[in-house]
Amino acid sequence: MIIHFLNCFTDNARFSSRMKTGLLCLLIETDKGLALVDTGLGLRDYSNPTWFTQFFRIITVMPFSPEEAAVNQIQKLGYQPEDVKHIILTHMHFDHCGGLPDFPHAKVHVHKREYDAFMGQGFDWKNAAYIRRNLAHRPEIALYETIDSKWFDFDAIRLPFAPEMVFIPLFGHSAGHCGLAVKTDSGWHFHVADAGVDIEHNIAPDFAIRLALGPHWPRLRAFAQSHPEVTLTASHMYDSYFAALKVDR
Ligand SMILES: [Zn+2]
Repeated sequence: MIIHFLNCFTDNARFSSRMKTGLLCLLIETDKGLALVDTGLGLRDYSNPTWFTQFFRIITVMPFSPEEAAVNQIQKLGYQPEDVKHIILTHMHFDHCGGLPDFPHAKVHVHKREYDAFMGQGFDWKNAAYIRRNLAHRPEIALYETIDSKWFDFDAIRLPFAPEMVFIPLFGHSAGHCGLAVKTDSGWHFHVADAGVDIEHNIAPDFAIRLALGPHWPRLRAFAQSHPEVTLTASHMYDSYFAALKVDR
């Protein structure tokens, strides 16, 4: 079983030049073909950016390079875009699912609450990061809602793949935000997505994390400390994390 760890969207803070982050996407070989966990920005975000992406280009520092698009990185690894049969979304903010149209035949797996918020009618500032055109190609969608298991102490929802994978509902950063735990050859990998931070390199204070990412970080951090055998990642990892990734597992 191979997982490729990809940075599919570099986005650096403007006012702490030490906060240089990439968006971690996981490309997992499963029994049902390749599954991509979150997509980063897609090709159309570069060729025809939305006002929201343009706004982020003002308030943050982005190299804004289409080379970072998952579809381009996957081809560099020797795969074809059609090899990506499934896309698992932690949530549907623009930086996590802008690449959906680059994999139009892939089935999309997402929590029902997140999908409902994304499809919600009427403009609401807290939903401004949901860009409707990312689903305009009408992909097949699998929705998840019912808690059907436990993963350690966390409520979990099983996903239909081998290796074993579970959604861990961690609502707060967005309506139906979930982390994802994957059983790798070397143990569990817990991708907490936007419910937490890069634990090793983080410089953001707790109050800012709570404000931006919701209430779960203290629990997740305590879990990481008491379970050193579990590898924990967040979506926005620091550039030093990506620099240290030498080989795929
Ligand atoms: Zn987000």
